[in-house]
Amino acid sequence: MVNQSIRVEESQSRKNKPDSSELVFGRSFTDHMFVMDYSSGLGWHNPSIIPYQNLSIDPAAMIFHYGQSVFEGLKAFRTQDGDIQLFRPEKNLQRLNHSNERLVIPPIDEEFGLEAIKQLVELDKEWVPDAEGTSLYIRPFIISNEPYLGVAPSGHYKFIIIMSPVGSYYKEGINPVKIAVENKYVRAVKGGTGEAKTGGNYASSLKAQEIVEKEGYSQVLWLDGLEKKYIEEVGSMNVFFKINGEVVTPALNGSILAGITRDSVLELLRHWDISVTERRVSMQELYEAHQDGTLEEAFGSGTAAVISPIGELYWDGNHLNINEGKTGELSKKIYDTITGIQYGKIKDPFNWVVKVGKKTEVK
Ligand SMILES: *Cc1c(COP(=O)(O)O)cnc(C)c1O
Repeated sequence: MVNQSIRVEESQSRKNKPDSSELVFGRSFTDHMFVMDYSSGLGWHNPSIIPYQNLSIDPAAMIFHYGQSVFEGLKAFRTQDGDIQLFRPEKNLQRLNHSNERLVIPPIDEEFGLEAIKQLVELDKEWVPDAEGTSLYIRPFIISNEPYLGVAPSGHYKFIIIMSPVGSYYKEGINPVKIAVENKYVRAVKGGTGEAKTGGNYASSLKAQEIVEKEGYSQVLWLDGLEKKYIEEVGSMNVFFKINGEVVTPALNGSILAGITRDSVLELLRHWDISVTERRVSMQELYEAHQDGTLEEAFGSGTAAVISPIGELYWDGNHLNINEGKTGELSKKIYDTITGIQYGKIKDPFNWVVKVGKKTEVK
């Protein structure tokens, strides 16, 4: 780091904030953004908080051609006391560097990155909505912006943080979704970039998503790229199953993205002494558990929805109905507990919450 202090240029005009009942994910953005540059000689430098604005980028910038970029997603929550808190943000910064490593992007100082997030949220704190279930979504990302068409790691990058107020994911209560198992396309393969949070993984997932949506399913269940037998993720979430009283989730295998919600679910289940294993789970096993009546619950996990129950899986002509299409008891309990901690409604025995605008306790 060349300069650890963040230059702040406050916006002279403030935007109108959308009504909390009309918040749409990722459509409106706060008054400010964080920007920091990297160049090979200087390292990361010139960290600034500036009014939210367009970027001026050379059309030859490498991001447009070869997609060398990474991103993160986390939220700030407003508690009943009006405090603002983040959920395990240090994990997002760790993962950002993990993705950076895979995409050959220079690492950022994780503590400094967290400081940048906190300062930005503090400045735009009026944008953290207070209606039930709403939050401020924070999107840190890095793009390669050296103007060069050669295929090589870029020598210039921009680290940017933007923020968007988001509405409640479950406006009409938690509703289980229908999922189609994807037998043709794959999201990622071992040795590929599935473990990294990078735009290319999303670009390559759109095709399958478009097809199943037309058929009335909300997401795809991704299978492994080699044998198309083993379950990996659901849409852009990690996935859990409750089979015969035991919770299972696919083990991180090199192509699955290590979700922070996934990690939180695992910790929570262990804290509750509920048996949970990370291992390979095949579609055949799920099918048989369904036939036996032991496939009790299924749900996706991720920052956006926290927990997204699966009510039906469509696989090779079979409609596997799970828990009569209703939200399972355990799924609901996990959802209530994690969101309870996020909004400060229940005690946080794990030290997951980080307050903004107050000194953080050293863990
Ligand atoms: C971000 C992401 C997840 C979920 O991660 P969280 O940290 O829980 O939000 C899962 N799968 C993919 C592919 C992702 O990009």
